[in-house]
Amino acid sequence: MNEKNNVFVTQPLLPPLEEFIPYLQKIWDNKILTNCGPFHQQLESALCEYLGLEHIALFTNGTIALVTALQALRITGEVITTPYSFVATAHSLLWNGIKPVFVDIDPRTFNLDPAKIEAAITPQTTAIVPVHCYGHPCDVEAIQKIANNYNLKIIYDAAHAFGVKDTRGSILRHGDLSVLSFHATKVFNTFEGGAIVCPNAQIKHHIDNLKNFGIVDEVTVVAPGINGKMSEINAAFGLLQLQHMDRAWARRKEIDTLYREQLAGLRGIQCLPDTGEIMPNYSYFPILVQSEYPIARDDLYQKLKDEGIYSRRYFYPLISDFPMYRGLASAQRSNLPVASDVTTKVLCLPIYPALSHQEQLCIIKSIREF
Ligand SMILES: *Cc1c(COP(=O)(O)O)cnc(C)c1O
Repeated sequence: MNEKNNVFVTQPLLPPLEEFIPYLQKIWDNKILTNCGPFHQQLESALCEYLGLEHIALFTNGTIALVTALQALRITGEVITTPYSFVATAHSLLWNGIKPVFVDIDPRTFNLDPAKIEAAITPQTTAIVPVHCYGHPCDVEAIQKIANNYNLKIIYDAAHAFGVKDTRGSILRHGDLSVLSFHATKVFNTFEGGAIVCPNAQIKHHIDNLKNFGIVDEVTVVAPGINGKMSEINAAFGLLQLQHMDRAWARRKEIDTLYREQLAGLRGIQCLPDTGEIMPNYSYFPILVQSEYPIARDDLYQKLKDEGIYSRRYFYPLISDFPMYRGLASAQRSNLPVASDVTTKVLCLPIYPALSHQEQLCIIKSIREF
């Protein structure tokens, strides 16, 4: 691939500009730019319908939504979480003065391993923050059972899990709250954005209050809230984007299928297993570069980069290896053998609707070359 044809691991879904103009016109006409205006409300309803959920509170981004979700449930003390995620998962705990306790991941799903959670619970533990990594659902039942036994809350970091369904509906219905990100790199984006999926109207009301400074009316402030509101421009873009989602998914699915076919049986390259009865969202295409592959993961990463193919090492380094976490007892590699191994082998390949068939064949050829 030449310089003009660089391919990245993801590219934002951008509908034709002319389709966005009428939305902008409306904002200019009614002069409501933010503060939960008409597009904000429309997007909340449209997302509930599209995802099969009852209550969603939109946010300015996923990280502020995570911070606010922890506030809303008054989580304190220690929280069990995964080291194998984007750094915002653990940062949201530090922003609430909470001590993260890292627990290792399951080698099949790269999600928090429920079998290892109980040993990490102390009298200070108040919640579990698991991540549906790459949109593959956590073992929600096992995690719920532990939470029930120890009276813990569960907040899912569902930043990767937009649109993922199991046989009974959206996986975002699990736990006490689920948090989405609509960042430009995610399957569904609003440039920047996020949301909290709420189980009932009272909790949504409380969260809506928290995302608006805790203001009730002109003279009443009831909580130390934050400014987490999604603006009208972002909400309008989300409404437009929703109309393109089904087509985008169909294309993502084709890309996923071709990678699986073409990389199957390739020595030293391992794809994540199919998710069975789960309806996935094809948001990422991770492979593991095992020791049987002729070159190491970082060398393959560099070789692809030299050819204009920008894969990403999601998630490397582990969150627990960053300076603000590595002093914790739970951050030691000996406590996280699976995550420590996977982080040295994983590579996410380009997957996005605008990736052409030709470009994908180039990527596959490059990996098969040995
Ligand atoms: C993207 C992401 C976030 C943060 O979302 P922003 O909208 O970028 O703030 C949090 N957790 C995970 C797992 C993510 O991938």
